[in-house]
Amino acid sequence: MTIDLAAPAGRRIALIAHDNKKQDMLEWAEYNLALLTGHELFATATTGRLLQEQLGLPVTCFRSGPFGGDQQIGARIAEGEIDLLVFLWDPLEPHPHDPDVKALLRVAVVCNIPIACNRATADFMISSPLMGQVHQQWDPAADPAADPAQPGGAVPGPGVAHQVA
Ligand code: PGA
Repeated sequence: MTIDLAAPAGRRIALIAHDNKKQDMLEWAEYNLALLTGHELFATATTGRLLQEQLGLPVTCFRSGPFGGDQQIGARIAEGEIDLLVFLWDPLEPHPHDPDVKALLRVAVVCNIPIACNRATADFMISSPLMGQVHQQWDPAADPAADPAQPGGAVPGPGVAHQVA
């Protein structure tokens, strides 16, 4: 079952940056400030505080990543309450919450929301023409085709990735 997003102009965007990527996140957000102001922003605690203090962006903050913030954002993705994820994770350092990182990326893929894990992809995503169009998430819990017990249900996935409004 797919979910049409009702308000394409105001996406709900989650922003997370590991410590070595926080400067990247700040520079990316500053570069895209005009585009970001039209959207509702969420972030893990430290990332969100930096965006608020240094760029004046209104951000709803969750807990810090190592204290459950990644899981909080993952839960909201599963509930259909986050539309896009910019997650600048650090590929060069291990983190105590690496299992949370993997779980967050997994649920974002399952729910078919756009994910950017580096600045280049985040630039492409935030400036995509699809930002202004109806887009479809996928709710696997409500899709009988995703139930492996159903005939033909072993290969879940959204039937339509996106549609023009
Ligand atoms: P932080 O969390 O924004 O609170 O630093 C990010 C993370 O490490 O997942």
